[in-house]
Order: sequence, then C-alpha cells, then structure tokens
Amino acid sequence: MIEVRNLTKRYGGKTAVEDLSFTVEPGRVTGFLGPNGAGKSTTMRLLLGLDRPDGGDAVIDGRRYRDLPRPMRVVGALLEARAFHPGRSAYDHLLCLAQSQGLGRRRVEEVLEQVGLADAARRRAGGFSLGMAQRLGIAAALLGDPRVLILDEPLNGLDPEGIVWIRNLMKGLAAEGRTVFVSSHLMNEMAVTADHLIVIGRGRLVADCSTEEFIERGAGRVIVVRTPDRDRLAALLRAEGAVVTETDADELEVAGLQAPRVSELAAAAGLVLHELAPRRGSLEDAFMESTKDLVEHGADATATGGAK
Ligand code: ADP
Repeated sequence: MIEVRNLTKRYGGKTAVEDLSFTVEPGRVTGFLGPNGAGKSTTMRLLLGLDRPDGGDAVIDGRRYRDLPRPMRVVGALLEARAFHPGRSAYDHLLCLAQSQGLGRRRVEEVLEQVGLADAARRRAGGFSLGMAQRLGIAAALLGDPRVLILDEPLNGLDPEGIVWIRNLMKGLAAEGRTVFVSSHLMNEMAVTADHLIVIGRGRLVADCSTEEFIERGAGRVIVVRTPDRDRLAALLRAEGAVVTETDADELEVAGLQAPRVSELAAAAGLVLHELAPRRGSLEDAFMESTKDLVEHGADATATGGAK
C-alpha cells in the first residue's frame, strides 16, 4: 500500500505538489493522471526517496523509502527507461542490481524470461530500442518480487503488442494482490487497464475514485438511438428536457434521459426504433472536462498530447 499525506514540494518559487493526500490500495491497478506539469513525476520521485518533501510524507507499506531495509524487495519502480549503462548487457545490468540486494542469477534469468528479453540478454543494452529499454526497466522493477510497483509512463515507446503485454502484466500483478501505481498519458489504455484513478492538476488532488465513476461523472452517459423518425423523436425528447444531438440521418445522441423513458416516449407516439443503446463517455472526455482549468500555462500539450 502507498500512502501520501499532505505532501508538498516546492522548486524555488514554484509549488510542484501542494498538500496532496491519497492512498493506493493493493489488489488493483491505480492510474495516476494529470496534465503535463501536474506533479506526477515529482510525487513518484518523492515516494522513491529521490527528493525530499517540503511538507507531509509519502510512505510505502508504512515506511519511508529510505527506511526500507531492502527496498527492491518492497517496491519496484520504473522512472526512466534508459537508466542503465549503455555498454553493459541486459543480463549484467540486472545481475549488478540483483547482487546489491542479495538476489541471485536465477532471479535475473526469471525476470528476463518474464519480460521477453531472454534472447537479447547478452546484447549491449545501449543498442536497445525504446520498447526493449522499457522491458529492461520493468525487469529491474520486478527483480525483488516487490509487493508495490510504481511505473512512470511504462507504455512510452512500446508497440501495440508491447502495450497489450504491459496491460496484462499490470493486471496480473494486481490480481496477485500487489499494489500497482502507474502514470500514463494514453487515456484509451488507462481506461481499460486502471481499476482506480488518482487525478491531479497543478499539484493538487482532482479525483480519487474508480475509473468507471470518474468517466460517469466527467463524461456522463448518453443513449444512442437509431430511428427512421429521427426529427419527430428528437422533438419529443427535447420537450421532455433531454439534450439531443443529431449524429446521423437516422441517429440521435441523447443525454439527460434514461433508456426506458426514451423507449416509452417513442412507443406512445408510435415511432419505430432500430437501436437504443446506452453508451459510456470516454476517459479522455472525462479527463479533459475535469482538468480543463488546470492545464499549465505555456504547456504545449495536455496529458493526452505527445510523449514526454
Ligand atoms: P508531471 O510529471 O505531472 O508532468 P512534474 O512532476 O514533472 O509534472 O512537474 C511538476 C512541476 O514542477 C512542473 O511545473 C515542473 O516544471 C516543476 N518541476 C519538476 N521538477 C523540477 C525541478 N527539478 N526543478 C524545478 N522545477 C521542477
């Protein structure tokens, strides 16, 4: 479990994280979202003892990172993909890390196998593609068989097969009862991977809820209706107070009314329906809605923009 309590961090006159509190529970994948500059990396660095907070604290399984006797056994982290010596092989890089924590060659071979790098293990890691470097970073994170995983943008540079692989890996680790805390700007991926979300903006908490609830709250639910009597039905629904958008010659998108009510109104007026389908909004829409006033001035992209 990860606990962040009243965490504050300033850089010069700039407050990167401000009085931030949240808990990341084991047994599920928790996504960490926020526009660029929101303070996600700072929070993760504070959690991993790479920086000191100006206020509050961040603890993993009840202890600050620097108080953990064998940190890799408790928490595995991926912060930067290319955090290895380029001249070293993947095997030697992992062996060096393993030995510092009292782990053996056997464990190195296991994680290389697990991340799909067994065949490339003896090659210079400096020649790895970004996707392979990410896999190596994840292998390092998994080395100590930690109960907690902190992954900053692990999807960067991965091809579609790699993305599906990480999705399944994270879900599998959570299903084993581990705590998985992951930041990403790829909303479609987070929508299918994260069970829970922590959303921040300008260093402050914006949302701490299930992914489903976040989408429902931010993007709502619409009903897609297909009917040959589009305009008559649209008029009826508007008279009931629904917000109706004509999306095709025979299609409407309806917000503010439940599906049964739409069906009843159509039936009472003798109108034929070809389709009546409730549809969930997208995580991207919900994210944009909840953070629209919190995007940093001068930031060139929102969290759904280009890779960092
Ligand atoms: P995110 O990961 O959400 O994009 P960061 O944690 O990287 O956000 O940054 C939060 C804010 O703190 C940004 O305004 C950033 O410019 C600032 N910041 C982060 N690290 C430093 C640093 N080492 N020195 C000065 N400012 C920093």
